[in-house]
Amino acid sequence: MLLHHRLLPRLLLLPSTHTHTSTSTLLRPSRLPRRLSLSPRFSALSHLAAPETVDQSDNEGAPHEDVQVKLPLDRLFVPPGATVDAGNQEAVSARVLKGSNIVLGPYARGDAQVVNADFVKSSVRPDDCPRDGLPEFALVGRSNVGKSSLLNSIVRRKRLALTSKKPGKTQCINHFIVNDSWYLVDLPGYGYASAPQEARTNWDEFTRNYFLSRETLVSVFLLIDASIPAKKIDLGYASWLGQNKVPMTLVFTKCDKRKKKKNGRRRPEENVETFQSMIREYFEAAPPWIMTSSVTNQGRDEILLHMSQLRNYWLKH
Ligand code: GDP
Repeated sequence: MLLHHRLLPRLLLLPSTHTHTSTSTLLRPSRLPRRLSLSPRFSALSHLAAPETVDQSDNEGAPHEDVQVKLPLDRLFVPPGATVDAGNQEAVSARVLKGSNIVLGPYARGDAQVVNADFVKSSVRPDDCPRDGLPEFALVGRSNVGKSSLLNSIVRRKRLALTSKKPGKTQCINHFIVNDSWYLVDLPGYGYASAPQEARTNWDEFTRNYFLSRETLVSVFLLIDASIPAKKIDLGYASWLGQNKVPMTLVFTKCDKRKKKKNGRRRPEENVETFQSMIREYFEAAPPWIMTSSVTNQGRDEILLHMSQLRNYWLKH
């Protein structure tokens, strides 16, 4: 069944002038209208289909200089509070963050960069998490996906995320405060091959409870390894988030690993595309996604801008 995602742009409320307006898509469930009828929305989307594309071929710099992603407008993520003029391709193109489908809107501010970051606490239950009401972003992904590396890359510290790798902290919700004003939250990795089934189930329940109950959670950042084909467990996680209307950003990691086609390997952008096509049915419109590498720092500034615009919108609404 096609489901509405609460982070997604309300494309179907567009006026006939083709000026796309996104509204209060970051609201918590209690502030959202109850389930909307979806079918008229989808029919009205059809006029935005394939011919109108956004060219991302200007991605520059090795190793992702040959990334060429053509995105139809209905596959872009238009953040809440932003508008997109479908009649002006170039203007839209210029506002899409590099290596992503994310349009930069008016809520992205100069506060995007990390000035300071510190570990705050490990919590074993959502109820134990900080209660100061600051907005937060949760990083989650399969073990070995590159979560600690990305966290360290975002905050420009070599070992901050090691805190959450200490024995006894792996099943905790770890809060890091950034710029004294918002949290990055490191959640337990999932899919440890060696973990007993019972422990895996507990971790699932633990993180799912957090997703469903945490009022200050602005968006989950679900990390997916783009250097390998989609894994069932990742697809399951993404579809669960979509079905439960938990705001989600897909963060594709290890995009610097560009294996040769002759070995039968697929390039990161091919894995990115396949992953999205496999989860599309669970979302009314495209969730935001972004390609990253902790080796080259690809995507780091873009993630921070994306977080900035989500956060600032959330704070105002
Ligand atoms: P975690 O278990 O999800 O926290 O993953 P880590 O951050 O510990 O990384 C797991 C492995 O992947 C390590 O060997 C990292 O060096 C490697 N890795 C992480 N990020 C990247 C990346 O962006 N590119 C490449 N090539 N390797 C990475």
